[in-house]
Amino acid sequence: MKKLFIDIGGTQLRSELHDGKSVREDTRSSRKYDLVDYIELLLKEHPEIAFIGISYAGQVHNGVILSAPNIKVSTKSIKKYFESSHDLHLEIDNDLNCAVMAEADFFNCRNIAALYIGTGTGSSVIDHGKLIRGTENQAFEIGHIPHRLTPFTCGCGKNNCLELYASGSGLERWMQHHHIDGALSFPLLEQSEAGRKIKVQFEEALVFAASTLVTLANPEILVLGGGVVKHNDYLVTLLKTRLPEFAFSPSLRNLKIVQSTLQQPGIDGARLLESSLATSSEAKDR
Ligand SMILES: [Zn+2]
Repeated sequence: MKKLFIDIGGTQLRSELHDGKSVREDTRSSRKYDLVDYIELLLKEHPEIAFIGISYAGQVHNGVILSAPNIKVSTKSIKKYFESSHDLHLEIDNDLNCAVMAEADFFNCRNIAALYIGTGTGSSVIDHGKLIRGTENQAFEIGHIPHRLTPFTCGCGKNNCLELYASGSGLERWMQHHHIDGALSFPLLEQSEAGRKIKVQFEEALVFAASTLVTLANPEILVLGGGVVKHNDYLVTLLKTRLPEFAFSPSLRNLKIVQSTLQQPGIDGARLLESSLATSSEAKDR
């Protein structure tokens, strides 16, 4: 039996095809392909695929894609579409839900919160082994809680979202606003007054995000991941130092703050969509 696991980010589409013996990996630009066409192509080549798990960087609910930033998807009801046209089972969830499942599995932890800072700012929580979804599968969308007014508009339509400060795309927008040229890096920001201000407001927003998440979810582990954290691991130390100032102290009593070590949390999470953790929590929701 073949299984296909797909991780779709804002810029990259990665997949793994497992046949029980070997794994075939594929990476391409997610901006150039329609997700439905991509899967159809693989199914034509491998009609025996019986399970497809997808980690998706956008809003998803009950197998339906609700928003698709940067990614072409010609059929939004993707689960229904493929399950009715092929003899297979498909599960799709948003990237942070997939990541927290992968982290929970890695740390063998039933009370865990993941805070990922990459292009966007995302978080997700597993409490007593159950993924917290919310009515529309939008729980813990921490990037869109109100923070401070900005001169920009977020993808969600508001102009005060935390993500406009505490994310890679937010940092880039502030750099453009202050006419700082070059690829995003903290050493570059350190070179100018405006850059240093951008870095400080990023760190403040990150501390606000982490302390809010910890205070609301009271996890045993707070795992920090995403590209911006991966390339700036001082941020983990920063949060360890500053969280006691901002978070509710009983929530910090038994908290471990760690950096993610997973190389591909999206693929790992997509694989886990088949497992009992995902299916049992979904079954309860339906
Ligand atoms: Zn927003």
